[in-house]
Amino acid sequence: MKRVKNGNIAIRMEPAATAYRFKDLLLDPGTKHRWEKVRKYFFLRESTYDMTRRCNIRCDGCYYYEGEKQFAKENGDPEKWRQLMQAEKERGITYVVLAGAEPSLVPELCKVCHEEIPLGAIATNGLNKIPESVRYKIHISVWGNDETSARIRHRQGMLRQQVENYKGDERAVFVFTFTRDNIGDAEGVVKRLGEANCKLTFNMFSAPVGYKGPLRHTEASLKEVRETMVKLLRERPDTVLFSPYNIVAHTHTYALHDLYACPYPRMNPSKAQGLGRSFRQYRTDLTWNRNAACCVPDTDCADCRHYAAGSAVITAKLFRHGTNPDTFKSWLDYVDTYLAVWVMGYEKGENLSSDLVAPPGYDL
Ligand code: SF4
Ligand code: SF4
Repeated sequence: MKRVKNGNIAIRMEPAATAYRFKDLLLDPGTKHRWEKVRKYFFLRESTYDMTRRCNIRCDGCYYYEGEKQFAKENGDPEKWRQLMQAEKERGITYVVLAGAEPSLVPELCKVCHEEIPLGAIATNGLNKIPESVRYKIHISVWGNDETSARIRHRQGMLRQQVENYKGDERAVFVFTFTRDNIGDAEGVVKRLGEANCKLTFNMFSAPVGYKGPLRHTEASLKEVRETMVKLLRERPDTVLFSPYNIVAHTHTYALHDLYACPYPRMNPSKAQGLGRSFRQYRTDLTWNRNAACCVPDTDCADCRHYAAGSAVITAKLFRHGTNPDTFKSWLDYVDTYLAVWVMGYEKGENLSSDLVAPPGYDL
C-alpha cells in the first residue's frame, strides 16, 4: 500500500489488483460489526416529491427554478397526497424525500406523507419550523454565514433564524453547501452550530444545467474545499457528520457519475433493478417523468457532487467497494454517514478509516 501525506491525513493509493473474497473482509470484528449495523437498512427504497412550487426566498443558482418542473401546477389536496403515498407504499417505496421548492409552506401535506410513510427527510431552508409531529429528518440548507447568505440568498440573519428554529431538535441536520464563494465561511459556521449543539453535514454546489455563474467549482476550489473538510472533520467530529471517503467522493475532480455511474433513471436507461426500477421524482402536480427522474433534477450531471445524489449513487456500489479492506471500510463509513444524516434514530459510529482512500479505479 503506497501512502502519501495530505495535511494530517494519510492518503492510500489502491493496489493494482489484489482480490479479496467478501467473507475475508468481514474477518475484522469492527468491519463485521459495522456491516451488520448498516445492512439492516438495505430495505430503504426512496422516491422524491416536490411539495410546492413556492419558496419564501429566492437563492442564486437554485436548481428548482430551472427546467420544466417549476411550471407544474400545484396539487394542494391532502387526500390526493394520501392516495399517492398509499400507492407508493404499494409499489415498495419505504422512504420519501420531500423537497422543492419549500416544503415548510405546506405543513399539512408533510403531515399526510408522514402518516402514510413514516421514514423520510425534508429539504428546507429552515426559516419556518416544520411541525414536531412530522418525525422525518429535517435538512436545513446553509450556504455560508449570515453575510454570504444575505448576498446569495437575499435574506438577512438566515443562520440565526435557522438555529433558533432547530436548536436541540433531534430531527435537524444542517447541510453546509460549499460553493466557490463561501469556503472561508465554513469554519465559523461549524463552530457556531457546534456551540448550539446542532449537527451538520457537507454538500457541494452542483451547477444547474446551463449555469455559468460564480458559484460553480473549479479544480482549485475543489482542492481548497477538500482541505477545509479534512480540517473541520478532524477538529469537530462531534458536530460534523462526514467521513474521509465522503470528502474524497465529493471533492474529486471527476463528478459522481464519472466516478461511480449514476443509477438514477435520468442517467440509467435500465429498468431492471435498483433505483432504475423503483425511483420516481414527482412534481407538484403529482406526475413524474422517467427521463428527468433523479434526486436533483436539472442539475448538470457533469458537475453533480450533490450530497443527496452521492447518498444513493455511492451507497448502491457495494460490489465495487467490497474488493479490498480499505475501499470496503471507506464505503461502510460512507453508508454509516448517509444513514446518520437521513434516518431518524440512527447514530453515526466512529469512522473505520481515517485515511483518504481513492475511489476504485481512480486516484485521488
Ligand atoms: S430555499 Fe431552496 S428552493 Fe428556495 S430558492 Fe433557495 S435553493 Fe431554491
Ligand atoms: S444530476 Fe446527479 S443524481 Fe441526477 S442524474 Fe445526474 S449524476 Fe445522477
